[in-house]
Amino acid sequence: MVQTPAKFTIQNVLIPTDHVYAFVDVQIVDGKIAAIAPHLNVIGTAIDGRNKLLLPGFVNAHTHSSEMWQRGIMSVLPLELWLAELYDFAPLDVEKVYLSALGTAVETLLSGGTSVVDHLVLIPGQELETIATAVRAYREVGIRAFVAPLIQDESITAGIPSGESAQTHEPYFRSTAATLEIIEEAVRQFHRPDEGMNILVAPTGIQLCTDALFAGCIELSDRYNLCRHSHLLETKAQEKLAQEKYGCTAVAHLKRIGYLGDRTSLAHCVWLTDTDINILAETQSTVVHNPLSNLRLGSGIAPILKYRQAGVNVTFGCDGASSNDSQDLLEAIKIGSILHNVTDLDYQHWITPKQAVEMASLGGVKGLNLAEELGSLTVGKKADLVLYDLTNLSLLPRTDPIGLLVLGRPSHVVNSAWVNGKQIITDGKVITINVDQLRQELFNLSQWETKRKSQTVAQLELHYRQVMGL
Ligand SMILES: [Zn+2]
Repeated sequence: MVQTPAKFTIQNVLIPTDHVYAFVDVQIVDGKIAAIAPHLNVIGTAIDGRNKLLLPGFVNAHTHSSEMWQRGIMSVLPLELWLAELYDFAPLDVEKVYLSALGTAVETLLSGGTSVVDHLVLIPGQELETIATAVRAYREVGIRAFVAPLIQDESITAGIPSGESAQTHEPYFRSTAATLEIIEEAVRQFHRPDEGMNILVAPTGIQLCTDALFAGCIELSDRYNLCRHSHLLETKAQEKLAQEKYGCTAVAHLKRIGYLGDRTSLAHCVWLTDTDINILAETQSTVVHNPLSNLRLGSGIAPILKYRQAGVNVTFGCDGASSNDSQDLLEAIKIGSILHNVTDLDYQHWITPKQAVEMASLGGVKGLNLAEELGSLTVGKKADLVLYDLTNLSLLPRTDPIGLLVLGRPSHVVNSAWVNGKQIITDGKVITINVDQLRQELFNLSQWETKRKSQTVAQLELHYRQVMGL
């Protein structure tokens, strides 16, 4: 393990200011930003910031790390059928969970992220081991982690609207109470915010969760001061399902049961009404926009410009690598901002590169209730920082650095990254783990594959097509 100086000073580095950019020195002491100004004394180790851009680290605000094992091979299907295929071919073991968590962390870090929200799929019967394994991987890499164990208490077929037909569903294999006990035990064992390791309550969404599960999560969140996470209205099918299940929109229902709030982040939010949008604004909930996943699964285009105009906090996620099929945060930020230009003729509403950077950093930590501590280059905040190499071919010739970073196709541009002042990337390489060994293990535990046939998709497809009018 490389020893990182408790104190260091980044010299002559470019940072964005309110209107333009400035060359400054940045002193870091005990994991925090101690001073930002030109020509500071060097405290601790000097780091050459010349021809580099310093930004606060981004948040990969929604992903599912173990989906890495199926990226590239998933059929071209909408979410409900795609999920059936995903689970048919997900014979995970803890070793795979470990490696894909490492891989997710590394790809996030190398694309500007310093925090990751992992809506972690649990291995049935080994739930706590799954959580422990992801926690171990993230601690080894040193990324700030928000492990959100993905829980549900209804079986997968319940996630498809019934339509005209009466549908019955198998009961879920584990009781609601047992599921909540697992989460509480995970909180006791692993929730250590001061060490950069956080557990979230994270029912997968209204489509597969009862009110009892949501209520149990709210109770745990209040008791242990945990952030709340969930998928929300990712697909048209979920919009229909909410009406069948509650007789109102999913957002109105979540408000009624008290799940929304300033520490609640909601992935997708594609199919919301204008009233729903106002509810998210009122409750100060955060929307996590996952544009690549929404395009890949044909879920729709989330009305992000409307959210921003209504005052809803929006940030970006990669979503799991099976619906993306990468963990490149810069790619998600680019597509997630320019995609919306086609939804509104008024270009004054469009997202600028600088706004996109703020959404990815400050917007991300707001949704995790950490805006006081992280998310901007501010004296007193924790040093979760990323240094970009402005001499990289993909960032040349020299124009607007943030414009190049967001609108270009930056590759291998992260020179250094720190989490809590601890250096994780040096000279473009993650130094906390052996990435070559990780590559070798990912290679060894997988095979070139092309076609597979999902039994569950075959069973569900006819009903899905009927109910969706296809
Ligand atoms: Zn997701």
